[in-house]
Amino acid sequence: MKVAVFSTCAYDEDFFKQFNTGHELSFFAVPLTDQTVSLTNGFEAVCIFVNDQADAVVLNKLHENGVRLIALRCAGFNNVDLIKSKELGIQVARVPAYSPEAVAEHALALILTLNRKTHKAYNRVREGNFSLERLMGFNLHGRKVAVIGTGNIGKAFCMILKGLGCIISAYDPYPDESLKSLGITYGTLKETLLDADVVSLHCPLNDDTFHLINSETLTLFSKGAMLINTSRGALIDTASVINALKSGQLGYLGMDVYEQEGKLFFRDHSEDVIQDDLITRLISFPNVLITSHQGFFTQEAMEQIATTTFKNIDDFAAGVVLTNSVIGI
Ligand code: NAD
Repeated sequence: MKVAVFSTCAYDEDFFKQFNTGHELSFFAVPLTDQTVSLTNGFEAVCIFVNDQADAVVLNKLHENGVRLIALRCAGFNNVDLIKSKELGIQVARVPAYSPEAVAEHALALILTLNRKTHKAYNRVREGNFSLERLMGFNLHGRKVAVIGTGNIGKAFCMILKGLGCIISAYDPYPDESLKSLGITYGTLKETLLDADVVSLHCPLNDDTFHLINSETLTLFSKGAMLINTSRGALIDTASVINALKSGQLGYLGMDVYEQEGKLFFRDHSEDVIQDDLITRLISFPNVLITSHQGFFTQEAMEQIATTTFKNIDDFAAGVVLTNSVIGI
């Protein structure tokens, strides 16, 4: 099949070329938007990532151009208008689980870096500064960690926390029985966030979870708590989080995703004047650590993303039911 792969970087091309099962791939560095959708003329499938747009306008043009499959090379599908794609008969497949440990371990990396300040120690020691002033952290052992969403990634994260000796409380509309049997307690969102020392988000972005962390829910956290978001940027109301950091209600913020990341992430903007005042304000805090959506970025996860994406394309080409279909058509 002819497949247009959008938002590609060199590492995407490497893995896709290595695991290609015989399709004709064209790589486009630009994201899929209403400005770039014309590139899809003559392609039967598009392969897109987290910040590509498949809204109604783009979907109509994809359909006109002959595209019949959207192969998401990620788990989340909040950027696809599923009602419209179903109406147009465009199938949507995703990679439902690819090394959930990759993202869970990145959440832990953010926690430990913010807490034990190893990034600051690294720079200090290189400059001959061996002082411990302002490097003090806290033991994670015995701390209350709230996990919001205990699907593939949240569950892997809970298993890591278990090993660290944290007290884990969780919120998920569909609690996981195996986690309950390990002593993880489920409650309402409010009960789970109440007095939490660390809050980590692992739920999808949808109408129910948009700005789940806002000026009201932030007051439930223990004073000086740490917030970690490796899920989707819009789970957090960034302006409220900035206020909570300024007041000290929030003591630390680790984020791998950002509501407006589409304009910034995955590209080098080091010579540009960044126009987004919220992210520049966040970068200015000493207790904020931002990574640019790299939670998934391990060797194992990239292999699984490539192999599952080609399985989805192969299934579509063979006319069999897509096991990883998002909309079930
Ligand atoms: P998943 O579908 O396995 O799990 C999501 C869980 O969230 C489910 O158990 C679901 O019941 C729960 N949930 C749904 N609505 C909820 C709500 N309102 N409140 C609390 N929980 C709710 O997904 P996953 O593979 O664990 O991925 C979780 C999220 O992580 C994805 O949606 C995606 O946005 C994000 N993600 C980020 C990266 C990264 O590189 N940073 C990589 C992969 C996935």
